[in-house]
Amino acid sequence: MSGRLEIATKDNMAKRPLSSARMTAMDWGVIGHGWAVDLLRRQHARGTLHHAYLFTGPAGVGRRSLATALAQSILCLAAPASGEWCGECRACRQVPAGTYPDLHVVERPEDKKGIGIDQVRELQRSLALTPMDGQARVALLFEFEAASEGAANALLKTLEEPSPRVRLVLTASDVEDVPPTVSSRCEVLALRPVAEREIADSLERRGASAEEARELARMSGGRPKLAMELLTDPAKRDRRSSHSAALEEAMRLDLAGRFALAEKWANDEDLDERLSTWAFLLGEVARSTGGKGQAQDASSARQAIHAVAGTQEALRRNANVRLALELLMLDLPTRIGGALEPRAVANAPAR
Ligand SMILES: [Zn+2]
Repeated sequence: MSGRLEIATKDNMAKRPLSSARMTAMDWGVIGHGWAVDLLRRQHARGTLHHAYLFTGPAGVGRRSLATALAQSILCLAAPASGEWCGECRACRQVPAGTYPDLHVVERPEDKKGIGIDQVRELQRSLALTPMDGQARVALLFEFEAASEGAANALLKTLEEPSPRVRLVLTASDVEDVPPTVSSRCEVLALRPVAEREIADSLERRGASAEEARELARMSGGRPKLAMELLTDPAKRDRRSSHSAALEEAMRLDLAGRFALAEKWANDEDLDERLSTWAFLLGEVARSTGGKGQAQDASSARQAIHAVAGTQEALRRNANVRLALELLMLDLPTRIGGALEPRAVANAPAR
């Protein structure tokens, strides 16, 4: 039920040199979203925290990190001040790992499309119990846009009858993707992509060179989680560059060449990552084009995004992989103007 949560703790940050003071109190260890951290800390200090929050934003932007930081601030057993955490107590050590008994993490089981009604019912049984450490119980429900209708309806009961000792944090891509009966009972915080400068600064604090930090921040498109993954996982960085080069190659080829690629990729273990990388890179192109004389490029990029999204959807519905890829090859435009991304920086030495 609990996955590992991505958030800075003293333990996992110790691997890289940094000034530790910044990682705990002021920014809650969250990269970017200073306004949201400030707001939540203020609400906490004034005792006006809401019963339920919905954090929205694109994947990798930091919704989980912020949700986990909020949970940590609520559950810390030795907070130096209201709305802060100590970073050392049992709660502070166990919340980021998802193992603290008063923290309940609910997310999509690997073999399911989304959170199910049974998971919500089980959560409700746990939330009804007195907190183990006497403070509160906090539930984090991730990717709630994919929750089943039954799960969303079941959760309404918890949202409509708030207990002062229970806090809920839901995450979703967009508020529109969550039933209005649920979102209207939550305080909604919409997280936007983080400024490249902020991401680059935080990568430098984690040991990246200035040039590497700038490059990875740019490649991340404002998503700190992706930037951190690219920093700590050179193999992912290589795969990403190769996915980007492959898409450019496919667009250059004639149909026979494209179908040969489709056949090759049909057995690709990284197909999910390949398609999400394409969707992301094409999205960046669509955002950065559209100016004077670029209307054609923007329209081609949108056509490609549509084709990739259609393939992802078909694969979620268990379509035949090779057929889905061949359809994609038919729909891809021949060019989208310019490179998808400048080649990545030379690989940093393995860490
Ligand atoms: Zn603590």
